[in-house]
Amino acid sequence: MAEYDFVVVGAGMFGAVFAREATDRGRKVLVIEKRPHIGGNCYTERREGIDVHVYGPHIFHTSDERAWEYVRRFAQFNHFVNRPKVRYRDKLYSFPINLMTLHQLWGVRTPAEAEKKLREAAVACDNPENLEQWILSQVGPEIYEIFVKGYTKKQWGREPRELPASIIQRLPIRLTFDDNYYRDRYQGIPAGGYTRLFERMLEGIEVRLNTDYFADSEKWNAAAAMLVYTGRADEYFGYRFGELEYRGLRFESRTFEGDYQGNAVVNYAEGRIPYTRVVEHKHFDFRGQPGTVVTWEYPDDYDRTKVAYYPVNDERNNALYERYKREAAGDEGLILAGRLGTYRYLDMDEAVTAAMATIQDLM
Ligand code: FAD
Ligand code: UDP
Repeated sequence: MAEYDFVVVGAGMFGAVFAREATDRGRKVLVIEKRPHIGGNCYTERREGIDVHVYGPHIFHTSDERAWEYVRRFAQFNHFVNRPKVRYRDKLYSFPINLMTLHQLWGVRTPAEAEKKLREAAVACDNPENLEQWILSQVGPEIYEIFVKGYTKKQWGREPRELPASIIQRLPIRLTFDDNYYRDRYQGIPAGGYTRLFERMLEGIEVRLNTDYFADSEKWNAAAAMLVYTGRADEYFGYRFGELEYRGLRFESRTFEGDYQGNAVVNYAEGRIPYTRVVEHKHFDFRGQPGTVVTWEYPDDYDRTKVAYYPVNDERNNALYERYKREAAGDEGLILAGRLGTYRYLDMDEAVTAAMATIQDLM
């Protein structure tokens, strides 16, 4: 008999929800996490009384009632709505593209005027095959140049025509003054930070930090009736079919007095500026702290020693991932899960619903 019903590798959103749900169904669970903290990429840290989003800005947004209800069991959520601004040369623009952005660019004032201008600007394309073709077919070259070309190139280290359109189809383009970054019904930030939410979610569950599965995989395999692995799929299989590509990030933070930029997120769209966004963490919350913590986010090349932030879901990588997935399907004692284990850009709510669905399938 194995010591645990489940050994969960990774204390991120998927691992934590899975561990909570399995425990509440009477199963014995151990969570191991190689980082010195829980929360995965959602982790926040208190600095100057401010909850700093250490691995990039995290806004919880969902249209799924169950996911929204679920996370609110562990924290109160504030009414934060993401309304980033874009800085290009010496100008600031409303973003995502909405009627205010089009007014700032072209002076149009109504949805009908905006629609006409966009129709004139768009580059007709019956079957857009990549990010560049798709966005040009929606908004034309001027908007592409200002908002997308430079940002996307530095974010991904590739030409926009070498990237799938799905990357940018996440963003709305609106002919109203609605500048909410997301299309979802619910949105907010957990009061007290994400780390507190994870602490509550993992209450009463055995968690071992600073514990890399690969340092003692035989031991963990023997201890587990089933292994729920939320790390990199290629690493799990010793890279036997080749390496999956990821994009990395690097963060630089500074502390100031007062208010630095008046908004939580400002994107820097110019290609010549090496960072993509500047995040002022206190604006995720509404507690009016006197100091401020500001983070510059730089895209970075990835290698095995770094955090794998973004999967690069092009055809080659998706096909390679399918081989690892087939390999995992042949092992009844293994579940590959989460953003890294499924090689998908999962939002937090999708990680929650995926963990809930996995538990339901098992029990
Ligand atoms: P992770 O958070 O990556 O957790 C996996 C955990 O497994 C990590 O803690 C890792 O250390 C651990 N691990 C890996 N390998 C091992 C090993 N060998 N041994 C032990 N432990 C291991 N989502 C939103 O909904 N809204 C946002 O605004 C948003 N912003 C984001 C911004 C950035 C920059 C990034 C990168 C992601 C963002 N996300 C956002 C996505 C969000 O981070 C994910 O949905 C969520 O983290 C997925 O949880 P996970 O458990 O699958 O993965
Ligand atoms: N994007 C852009 N300009 C911006 C913001 C985003 O061109 O000012 C593009 C870019 O290619 C990015 C994609 O839209 O990778 C998705 O943006 P999102 O904000 O969802 O990225 P994330 O928060 O995941 O980094």
